[in-house]
Amino acid sequence: MTVDIRTLLLVIVLMGAVLAVSVAVVAHQDQRDGMRYWAVGLALHIASYVFFSQVGTLGQFVGLFSAVLLRASAWALFAEGLFEFYRRPAPRVLVWAPVVAQAVAFVVLFEHPAYRSLLVSLISLFQAGLALGLMLQARRQTPGHGQYFLMTGLVMAMALLTFRMLEVLRAGSVGLRDAAGTNPVQVISLLGALVTLVLLSIGFVLMSKDRADDQNRQLATQDELTGLANRRHLNKVLTQEWARFKRSKQPFAVVMIDIDFFKPYNDHYGHLAGDECLRHIAQVIQSGMRRAGDLAARYGGEEFLLILPNTLAEDGQRLADAVRQSVEQLNLPHAKAPLGRLTVSMGVAAMVDGGYVDALALLSAADEALYLAKQGGRNRVQLAQTVAVSAQVPGRLLPLVWHQRYESGNLVIDSHHHRLFSEANRILDVIVAGRGVAEIAQHIDDFVADIAEHFREEEVFLHQTGYPGAVEHARLHRELLDQAHTLAVQFKGGQLLVGELFVYLTQEVVARHMLTADREFIVFLHPAQ
Ligand code: GH3
Ligand code: MG
Ligand code: MG
Repeated sequence: MTVDIRTLLLVIVLMGAVLAVSVAVVAHQDQRDGMRYWAVGLALHIASYVFFSQVGTLGQFVGLFSAVLLRASAWALFAEGLFEFYRRPAPRVLVWAPVVAQAVAFVVLFEHPAYRSLLVSLISLFQAGLALGLMLQARRQTPGHGQYFLMTGLVMAMALLTFRMLEVLRAGSVGLRDAAGTNPVQVISLLGALVTLVLLSIGFVLMSKDRADDQNRQLATQDELTGLANRRHLNKVLTQEWARFKRSKQPFAVVMIDIDFFKPYNDHYGHLAGDECLRHIAQVIQSGMRRAGDLAARYGGEEFLLILPNTLAEDGQRLADAVRQSVEQLNLPHAKAPLGRLTVSMGVAAMVDGGYVDALALLSAADEALYLAKQGGRNRVQLAQTVAVSAQVPGRLLPLVWHQRYESGNLVIDSHHHRLFSEANRILDVIVAGRGVAEIAQHIDDFVADIAEHFREEEVFLHQTGYPGAVEHARLHRELLDQAHTLAVQFKGGQLLVGELFVYLTQEVVARHMLTADREFIVFLHPAQ
């Protein structure tokens, strides 16, 4: 193979210039990712080839010395760029001493080309090795595959240097001044240098892009203030866990966390201090996560939610209590709280077989447990109340717990809802007490009749206020009642377990309908006085 060395050098210079300009264009002023160092490094690298090609006109000393100095500086700049990329302080001596060493070696050994070439190559090898070592160290924390292009480029550069050194040792001379291109060592070196340059520049740009992509991905799933997962990500994980539970019956627990007396904290210390405090607490919560799959998310304002895969209620409770204690031990002063410091309350619920109809029901159980923790004095963890009932009842039944936030502001509607909650809980007492079907059926009939009456009155309100969805809402009422009647008949006929009927009436009709569907028209009602 015969290659014209001058042409090859020209290709390297042109291509290198294009790459250097491309990297410079990609480099953003405000991004601390080392790209500018890298662009200048590439430019110097190219310049070194220009000097190398002009040895004939400039003379051996000036031409080669400039080339060596420029290439050594280029490697130092690559290292600087990498340290900046990894956000580590660059060890200046380690980075720049090889440049000085190469200059000195060149001058001192000018008259001994073989030794000179060996020593200069050896120091270059050290420079490339420094960059590679740094990359290998950081590779696990570096996202994407772009880094492997770069590493391949570095390995190639080191292989070429080693190859050259071996050749010098073998031949006992440098023997590179062969413009005819018949010297295979020189041709391989230059071709290799071309490929290396491409790998180094593309690799670095890709590596930066990989990191930017990774950061964007994280931002899309992260809560800005606390750095925890955001609500969107939380919903995704909850859906996944639910699906896994359906598939494999693998239990999982959720923990709802709410800061105690946070409103007075904000009022007393100011909103910014409140935000700072949210960050502190989020950190403590995050460091309380034990397994890789555990997720801590910001659920809303000052509420957090943990999703703990493969965890039973009691284990979830233990973990929650450890987090609660850590928050207490943070000792963040709170002048307006009885304990004088910030604390959190938590509600824990676990998805076990037969427990809840869906993930939403699980969340509301955790929410209700949280409410009980607040009522019980705060700074405590409450397990969702589940009632072990007779074998006739499938799974676990939950009492309905009224929550202040369920209130709509309309006194009539709120008092109805409140009454239906109490009635549902009385029926649960009757069921748990193991009373007979006839007695339970009587209570259920009364309950359904009360629900029907509530629906009627609500529909009158809706028509009076001109709520646009009134007709649709009334249709929803009819469907719910029809289903309630059908299930009641099945229960009396022994075709349906009382637990299923109870779950339908309390979860579907009372809880879900009244607390979600009813929300939509509440704004149309003037508070009844
Ligand atoms: P409780 O012990 O019953 O939970 O009392 P509380 O005062 O904490 O009541 P609640 O949980 O309803 O408090 C919500 C307050 O949290 C309202 C608001 O002042 C505060 N808050 C919600 N989101 C943020 C936020 O992003 N930053 C700050 N600084 N405060 C927030
Ligand atoms: Mg709250
Ligand atoms: Mg609170």
